[in-house]
Amino acid sequence: MRHSDAKRLLVSIHDVGPMFESEVDRLADRLAGHLGGLRLAMLVVPDHWHQAPLSRAPAFRAKLRGWADAGVEMFVHGWSHRDDSRHAGAVAGFKARHMTAGEGEFLGLDAAEAARRMREGRALVEDAIGRPAAGFIAPAWLYGEGAHAALAETGFALAEDHMRVWRPSDGATLARGPVVTWASRSRGRILSSLFFAALARQGLKPLSTLRVAVHPGDTRIPALLDSIDRTMRSALAARQAGRYADLLT
Ligand SMILES: [Zn+2]
Repeated sequence: MRHSDAKRLLVSIHDVGPMFESEVDRLADRLAGHLGGLRLAMLVVPDHWHQAPLSRAPAFRAKLRGWADAGVEMFVHGWSHRDDSRHAGAVAGFKARHMTAGEGEFLGLDAAEAARRMREGRALVEDAIGRPAAGFIAPAWLYGEGAHAALAETGFALAEDHMRVWRPSDGATLARGPVVTWASRSRGRILSSLFFAALARQGLKPLSTLRVAVHPGDTRIPALLDSIDRTMRSALAARQAGRYADLLT
């Protein structure tokens, strides 16, 4: 089988930064065990909750460089990850409160502010890793109109939301299908994410590209780690670990 015919698995660790260093280490070790190496992406938060600035964490920046050298694709993942904007409009306000627990940083930003945070985040991440960032992924996968407009002008190679991966330069969709991910915030969310992952292990088999995303909070819940392991084993029985950049070629 030619490589391009093989079904692909794209694995990512969200919320990478000094705030969650030990959790990210554990997730990277665990996933690398399944993948036979660091064949994964990391989503880097430049200043998580305004409490963990990458700019003042030289040891962590060096660690990012080491991971990038080892082949990890590095995405810019918002700026603070927190939604500090006031939402005009009932729908945006509802989404911000109920879908994201206040983590939808790019849902309510205007284009100028979204572009400013994208550019500053990219500068920090690229300075740390010594190469171009793989793309931009908004916190909680939520993009408002301003964020979409900013993506069209900031020149990132790739972006994704919960349902697709696309190329911001022309809007072309490069992969479709829901991300398999887990939520650790509450018992209800833990149970529903376990249920969805079990369904996805069967139901998403036809997808040519399957995306799996893990978060630092997953490391606190043994049942989630178990579900992540099962999902990785099941996916890798039928797929090869790939890179987001493969979608561009
Ligand atoms: Zn995130």
